[in-house]
Amino acid sequence: MPTVPAPIASRFERWLGHPALVTAVDQHSAALRTVTFAGPALRGLRDAPGQEIEFRVGPRELRHYTAARYDPAAGELDVVFHTAADGPGARWAAALTTGAETSVLGPGGGLRWQPGRDTLLLGDATAIGLFQAFSAASAASPAASASTPASTSIAASSASAAPSPTAASSAAAGSPGSASGAGGVRASLRGAVEVPAADLAAARALLPGLEIVEAGDEPGRALDAWLAAASIPSSTRVYLAGHARSIQRQRATLKAAGVSRSDLLAKAHWADGRAGL
Ligand SMILES: Cc1cc2nc3c(=O)[nH]c(=O)nc-3n(C[C@H](O)[C@H](O)[C@H](O)COP(=O)(O)OP(=O)(O)OC[C@H]3O[C@@H](n4cnc5c(N)ncnc54)[C@H](O)[C@@H]3O)c2cc1C
Repeated sequence: MPTVPAPIASRFERWLGHPALVTAVDQHSAALRTVTFAGPALRGLRDAPGQEIEFRVGPRELRHYTAARYDPAAGELDVVFHTAADGPGARWAAALTTGAETSVLGPGGGLRWQPGRDTLLLGDATAIGLFQAFSAASAASPAASASTPASTSIAASSASAAPSPTAASSAAAGSPGSASGAGGVRASLRGAVEVPAADLAAARALLPGLEIVEAGDEPGRALDAWLAAASIPSSTRVYLAGHARSIQRQRATLKAAGVSRSDLLAKAHWADGRAGL
């Protein structure tokens, strides 16, 4: 419900909202910022990596976001905002300053992090917070016994694919979730995130374990190229988040490469010409 009558938005805020203050704003680039929200009402909420929250961003507008980090004991959470869209959510997020009062609606829903499997993350700048939460959850997962997954090369199955300068070989290196533990091998975590050129350095600092690729004119095409050049074992679990139409294409590519439907977990964050999702 992205747009509702103002009295309904007020009721939502009263019933589902947890009053909070902005306690920190970390501006990473012109469009990327991490905002910390805190308050006693944020203590002890449901704690699941990457869960969704909502904010009232205008008199009649509600928008979804993702908790990049949640500390239930401190009553504190971070959201990584990408403020490039021309809408009330982006304007609201870009204007937040320390001391601003708001209400955090939720948390609830969202893509569920499931540990113990080799995982691929694919998304755009709106998914940076989600992937930070998943990276932290992966790093905190205990190591499991080693497995040898069947491998399907997407590059091999995609004859028309343009080679990507950021192929999967380099993604595998330096992945934070691929270390061996004393008792076994930790499931690997890798992936790629597409961001505008102006956000490349900031995104790399925010997600050091993932490939960050430069967006072109059309959303998702740089990710398509990365995926076409990648070698993805068919046993991989994949999370896709961000631009709706890109997710559809990448799901089809991954399905054609043998990844099962049940291992393709997707969440559209925005769609062309649509206000809120
Ligand atoms: C479950 C969920 C979690 C989300 N988590 C986050 C998050 O953690 N951080 C975050 O920044 N956003 C997140 N989003 C996206 C967020 O809800 C808003 O879509 C975003 O802030 C833009 O809202 P807006 O009101 O400015 O634009 P809208 O009014 O929604 O859209 C205005 C126009 O801008 C276009 N547009 C919207 N987004 C983009 C974009 N990224 N790039 C280019 N054009 C765009 C639309 O197609 C539309 O034409 C999430 C969305 C969902 C559904």
